[in-house]
Amino acid sequence: MTKRHENCTCAASRRTARCVCYIIPEFPRPALEALRQPLETGRTTVARANNHVTYPARVQLIAAMNPCRCGWLDDPGRACSRAPKCAADYQSRLSGPVLDRIDLSVDVPAVTPADLALPPPAERSADVAARVAAARDLQRARYAAGARPSGAGAAPPVRTNAEADGALLDQVATPDEAGRRLLVEAVDRMRLSARSYHRVLRVARTLADLDGSEAVRRIHVAEALSYRRPTLSPASARRSSSR
Ligand SMILES: [Zn+2]
Repeated sequence: MTKRHENCTCAASRRTARCVCYIIPEFPRPALEALRQPLETGRTTVARANNHVTYPARVQLIAAMNPCRCGWLDDPGRACSRAPKCAADYQSRLSGPVLDRIDLSVDVPAVTPADLALPPPAERSADVAARVAAARDLQRARYAAGARPSGAGAAPPVRTNAEADGALLDQVATPDEAGRRLLVEAVDRMRLSARSYHRVLRVARTLADLDGSEAVRRIHVAEALSYRRPTLSPASARRSSSR
């Protein structure tokens, strides 16, 4: 979407909406930064000298990265001679504003030979899919029943928490008192931006929906906060062991 798009039609861009992208820090910085607008607004604007067009671009971003370029940061016997600086350099390719727009960050430790001998997970994919479908039904019912974006008469209807803006999340995702206290503390301690605050609310609302809980409780806020990744520092880079 960052190349020339004078001939791009709305039909073509609709096909790209709601797609899944997969990125790693090997992409050029301008391409990664160009994700900021679609991740924030679900739209992308292409500006040219004689044209200015906005396309729908609601994407679900799924990204993976190694902790460093060589990929052996946690293994002193194999890590390259530049560790841990190579990790700091590599991870800094994802800027703070891009990280701020990523809701769920999970460290994935390398698979060990002992892991390969473990039995398969108890919960089947079909069971997880059923839980997700139930949570989405809850959300559709909530927004169909009256929760609407504030002051947006012409805005498309909201069907899921992912589509709810900050004002709407304030209506439907305000946590209980214990959850609210935790969130206020976390905003201060983790130096969360206003954007992060609402993104935590959105994830906490979704976790409550997966639990079948009407109220957003402290446990949902705590879990949502655990998925937020602060801007990476060399120390956090050392902790990361995803490969
Ligand atoms: Zn390295």
